[in-house]
Parts: sequence; structure tokens; C-alpha cells
Amino acid sequence: MRASSQRQNYEASRITLKGDLCVYCGDIATTVEHFPPVSVTNLGFKLPCCRECNALAIDENPRDFERRIECVKSRIRRKHWKWLQIPEWSHEDLTDLSPMMRREVINGLNKKARTIKRLEFVSLAYIAVIDTDDQFQMFFDRSDAA
Ligand SMILES: [Zn+2]
Repeated sequence: MRASSQRQNYEASRITLKGDLCVYCGDIATTVEHFPPVSVTNLGFKLPCCRECNALAIDENPRDFERRIECVKSRIRRKHWKWLQIPEWSHEDLTDLSPMMRREVINGLNKKARTIKRLEFVSLAYIAVIDTDDQFQMFFDRSDAA
């Protein structure tokens, strides 16, 4: 009982930034990221996040959001490195493949393209868009001053 009401309290004390995309990679957000993490403080933000980035972020750089973004992206890069290794294929080369191989290669190329898109997503620009009252920005201005 007590733990659950404490949880409600800190959930209520967090500011929610609403958005459809993951703050780290721009994929569709299906989870809520707590920043700074719950293990560090009850105060802060609830941010839209995809399941994978939420798992990758864990407790890394709990108070430095820019470093946290870099860390999540390097983990995405490491996790999906094999897609990034796939060379580009010309249309002609693809048509020379058997239908099954072609499907495999195209599938890999799609995963490569998606991974690159996630890595290139400009998280801070997106945050600036969904941070409509500049609360996220102010939070960091205060942290810098402290
Ligand atoms: Zn993500």
C-alpha cells in the first residue's frame, strides 16, 4: 500500500513531455522513460521512448542527458552493427539473386537504413519541439547553475 502511494506521488511530481516518437532514436514511442532515472530521484521528467532505447538507457549518465543520448546511440550501434556492415547493392545485383536471397538482402538493407535513421535522429531538436513550456530546458539551466 505504502510503496504504491509513494510511487503515485513521485509519478505525479514528474513532468510529462508528450510526443509520439522516442526521444533517443525517433522510432514510435511505446514506453515512458524516466529522466533522471527513478533510482536517482523522484523529480524530473517522463519522456516518450521506444522499448529498446528504454532498456538500453538504464542508469547510464543519470543526470547528463546529452551524454545519455550518446550512450544509447553507441549501444544501438553496437547492438545492430551487423546491419551496418551490409554493403549497398545495385538494383541489377539484386535482380541477379534468387528470390529468397533477394528477400534476405533487402530485409538486411531495410534494417541497415532503419538503424542509420535511428542513429541520425536529432534528439535535442525533437526535445525542443515537445518541450512546449521550456521546462526541460529550464531544468538543465538550474542543474548547470548548481
Ligand atoms: Zn528509441
